[in-house]
Amino acid sequence: MSDRLANQIAAGEVVQRPASVAKELIENALDAGASSIEVLLKDAGSTLVQVIDDGCGMGPGDAERCFERHATSKLRSVDDLERIRTLGFRGEALASIAAVAQVTLKTKRVEDDAGTLVRVEGGEQVEKRPCAIPNGTSVAVRNLFFNVPARRNFLKTPATELKHLTQTVQSLALANPDTAVRLEHDGHEHYDLPAAPDSDWHAATRARILGLFGGDHEDELVAVEDESSDLRLRGFVGAPSFHRKTRGEQFLFVNGRAVTDRYLSHAVKKAYGELVPDGAFPFFALFLAMNPERVDVNVHPQKEEVKFDDQSGIYGFLRSAVRRALGRVHVSPQMDDGD
Ligand code: ADP
Ligand code: MG
Repeated sequence: MSDRLANQIAAGEVVQRPASVAKELIENALDAGASSIEVLLKDAGSTLVQVIDDGCGMGPGDAERCFERHATSKLRSVDDLERIRTLGFRGEALASIAAVAQVTLKTKRVEDDAGTLVRVEGGEQVEKRPCAIPNGTSVAVRNLFFNVPARRNFLKTPATELKHLTQTVQSLALANPDTAVRLEHDGHEHYDLPAAPDSDWHAATRARILGLFGGDHEDELVAVEDESSDLRLRGFVGAPSFHRKTRGEQFLFVNGRAVTDRYLSHAVKKAYGELVPDGAFPFFALFLAMNPERVDVNVHPQKEEVKFDDQSGIYGFLRSAVRRALGRVHVSPQMDDGD
């Protein structure tokens, strides 16, 4: 199988929609040690998803090589798979994205005098030259699925794609409060969040939540902090009044990685008992830490789903931790203590 075909097939798994592109690019920026990340979108990402960072950058050789399949600088051995720390680890994202879009990479390391520009369209490198750029990396992904009309037609409405993009940026911004994040769509600024000045994790995360979801929630955030022999949970849940009609503002992270897990979201909802009505979803941004050997993050290419070796133990731990946190501020006779 040619590399080009392999990349187009892999692209089907890695790149579902503009939000998947944003996620991969932002994760790369974080892996590169960026202290500031800018995300520029046009037409709900269908014509442009661009991520600009001030991270370590790449030299001229790596600027070309990073588009090759399995060109990762992050995974050295199979053993590493057991203890994945960096966000990217499969070395497929850039190759996959470049197979189905028009990509312009500009990058520069501190030690280089000039930056490098590489353009790849539909998997073919079409340009490489020196360029002027500040230290760091800019990756602009234009016209996603331009060469795969069936996939392009499969995109949902701009409103839906933008919602996915926003949630992706929100999630990564929540998990990295010490990185400044700016988001712009069609020239309109959505967020411009400073890096947390505070070294205190709770204060920094709280500030980030308020920056993302509005300062009017100031009095509606309840800190959660709990620990068992092998689990640690921290973060914030919304007071019962801070809920939504959709799951859009529920964020769960496992060892720093965003995951979607209906079962565990249910554990949080359960902790509210009757305080939040059926069909409503309380806000939460919860960070669960556990021994990485007890969680498999590699079950899904999008890396959003995970498998735990003790699913029901984690459910119980989450529910009682959130219940305890809520109980501290909202003592209510309606609090469901059963089941
Ligand atoms: P992975 O992140 O799994 O390693 P990617 O395809 O996302 O694979 O990226 C390939 C490689 O390109 C990375 O391992 C890294 O060395 C380099 N790279 C990608 N994006 C950046 C960036 N923003 N800054 C510096 N290096 C980058
Ligand atoms: Mg990556």
